[in-house]
Amino acid sequence: MDYQGVEFYRKAADRSNRWHEEHTREMKKCRFDTIAVHGVYSMQEALDFNQGSIIEPIYMSTAQAYRDSDEMEAALGYQIPTWCYSRIANPSLYYLEGVLALLEGYGADIDTSCVATSSGMAAIQTAIDPFLLPDEKNPEKPINFVAPTQVYGGTFQQFAVRKDQERNITWNKVIDPAIIEQWEDLIDENTRFLYGEMPSNPGQSFFDLKKVIDLAHQHGIPIILDNTVATPALLRPLTLGADIVIQSVSKTLSTSGFNIAGAVISRKNITSKVDNPEMKANFAMYAKTLPNRDNGPNLSPMNAVLALNDIRTLRTRIDMQSRSTLKVAMFLEKHKHVEQVDYLGLESHPLHKLASEYLWLVDAEHDEQYGKPVNRYGHLMSFRIKGGSKAARDVFDAFTRIYRATDLGRIKSVATIPAISTHSQQGEVGRKLADIPENLIRLCVGGEHPDDIINDLDRALSVLDGKKVQHSSPEYSAGGASSAALRKKN
Ligand SMILES: *Cc1c(COP(=O)(O)O)cnc(C)c1O
Repeated sequence: MDYQGVEFYRKAADRSNRWHEEHTREMKKCRFDTIAVHGVYSMQEALDFNQGSIIEPIYMSTAQAYRDSDEMEAALGYQIPTWCYSRIANPSLYYLEGVLALLEGYGADIDTSCVATSSGMAAIQTAIDPFLLPDEKNPEKPINFVAPTQVYGGTFQQFAVRKDQERNITWNKVIDPAIIEQWEDLIDENTRFLYGEMPSNPGQSFFDLKKVIDLAHQHGIPIILDNTVATPALLRPLTLGADIVIQSVSKTLSTSGFNIAGAVISRKNITSKVDNPEMKANFAMYAKTLPNRDNGPNLSPMNAVLALNDIRTLRTRIDMQSRSTLKVAMFLEKHKHVEQVDYLGLESHPLHKLASEYLWLVDAEHDEQYGKPVNRYGHLMSFRIKGGSKAARDVFDAFTRIYRATDLGRIKSVATIPAISTHSQQGEVGRKLADIPENLIRLCVGGEHPDDIINDLDRALSVLDGKKVQHSSPEYSAGGASSAALRKKN
């Protein structure tokens, strides 16, 4: 074959980029479900590059081979679309990043991009670190960021220990994020970004997102949102003007529980005082190709495809699980052993009205069943048991259907006691700040019929009336005897 230099490849790349841009524009005309199902993987790509495979293939290969030194030079100089080495990029990651960028930008005429990471925590690190560089002119100047204390336990640790304690980057803590003045009072000229999580895990805290976005931009800084609990099926902060969204893809997006993964999704031309035009123009692409290339937190191809398969059904799952969660919450609210139920879907929740301004089931107005906008509030809730820590543990220990695990977003119902698990590291003071008492059980309602979950809760709560709940085990599992059973003397 006769190759014609780097320029030849650059021209081919231009044509290819135009084709992909056109295809993305076409996809953007589709509804949410169609985008979730197909993403950026096209029939042309299936037929021309992937032997007709209707599902995005898993490219496990570490590296991409080039036709000649010219193509290699163009690729490694990022002049043509390339995936070169799977630590940096990979076709399977490209499909996941493409679909998440489209879903988080759905419904608005904005351009978005995404970098997939090896976990939600890696996504948070990827999203915030580029803003935490010392001031070039004055390296001694202290820097800070503003974020509520009601954040996921891992996030609390990353902020409090890895940033604040170890790197002396001050976390200015918002105690009640629903009060905008609290954010405002904590911003100064050294603030690099605002960060929020809503609805928060586990406390269901919520704030007026549009006001916080405006506040950030008035101060010339970006706002970063953890959108894990709502998912793009209920809330799309980028379409409201937020700069960066992070997702723990491990959770609702990968509902079947086979995955640890994360993602950073950004809009083009974010607001920031950091003098880095490339970063501001396309944050996610910058993070992917530069800092993450050097630090190495990007996702593996296998995990990308596992996530893709679950994302296809996101909207209908969230709808069903939100409805089930509301039913469960209403049952618990009336139960005599329950002190308080925190679920934004309940009218009794102080933030119900505010949440109802933001949490809408995407495309409900185009749904046969609804034909109009409907609020949905997700499948994370928490409830407090009367009688303190011991009573909460007794109820928790009596679940026979709901799994006891530090997990959420699963297709199976899962519960945890945050004070002794997800939020134990932050200590009693940290938990007080975040309002996570010892009698609080976090429940994430899965895809089971809600009546069966209610039955399990009802039975478990009855231990407080002195009823016993039996846990017995079979002696054989799929043909394998348990060692306890074999030791037992008949
Ligand atoms: C789980 C979780 C994270 C962290 O994600 P990992 O994938 O477990 O690293 C971040 N934010 C929220 C809201 C979470 O629930």
